[in-house]
Amino acid sequence: MEQIERDDQAAWLWQLPAVDILRRVWLQQFRMVDGQLNWRVENQDELPPSAQLISSPYDIEARFSRKRTTTWVGYKVHLTETCEQDHPHLIIQVATTVSTEADSATLPQIQQALADQSLLPSQQLVDTAYVSAELFVQSQQRHQVDLVGPARKDQKWQALAGQGYAAADFHVDWDAQQATCPQGHPSHSWFHTLEKGQPRVFIKFSTKQCGPCPVRAQCTRMKRRGIKLRADAPYHALQAARARDSQADWPLLYNQRAGIEGTIS
Ligand code: SF4
Repeated sequence: MEQIERDDQAAWLWQLPAVDILRRVWLQQFRMVDGQLNWRVENQDELPPSAQLISSPYDIEARFSRKRTTTWVGYKVHLTETCEQDHPHLIIQVATTVSTEADSATLPQIQQALADQSLLPSQQLVDTAYVSAELFVQSQQRHQVDLVGPARKDQKWQALAGQGYAAADFHVDWDAQQATCPQGHPSHSWFHTLEKGQPRVFIKFSTKQCGPCPVRAQCTRMKRRGIKLRADAPYHALQAARARDSQADWPLLYNQRAGIEGTIS
């Protein structure tokens, strides 16, 4: 590569795919420090993120990925299989993506492929990685598909404490743009904001009410309580999904998905 760089007549060699890949791999793996070639160290953030790092010069789209204790270099495959009780189970769609793409980012592509083949189900059972409040809404609105999967729980300390002061314990009047706290006090302000590109509503309560509130320790560690909610439709979709996966008959519905785990295994 140094010789190509020195020789103008040889510059065309950079256009050869093999030379270009070699150059990119070297740039990603090594750097010059005081004239010395140094291997970039992964745990010191010297390597590019997995989504950009070429893991094999023989397959430059293969990426390193990790899922819990499993690591691999390659791709991800998403299988959609029917699960009618009295019929054979059929794989009806296969989507292959780069291994670093989130499952939730692939779901719209899977649903569109099913729609193109007129194979959309009325209910689609997926694992947690494929669900989000926004995807519950999108599935219903775009494809009239009831997306069924375990919704992530509220991880805020108030929700984990289970003492009745989680965001879901506040009454929200979306039309009036006002919330009421479990102690019956109305909210003080209501702002629209964005979080990772998604609309959010940020609601604050008044220091006058929260300051002397007898249950403040269970509700907030600040001078006053604030809650951040998704927009109206995703908020309700998430609440509904959380309520559904807490019902006694949830395992009967969701256990049908066990078949696909067998197929993948
Ligand atoms: S701390 Fe504030 S928001 Fe929380 S219950 Fe008391 S008054 Fe209501």
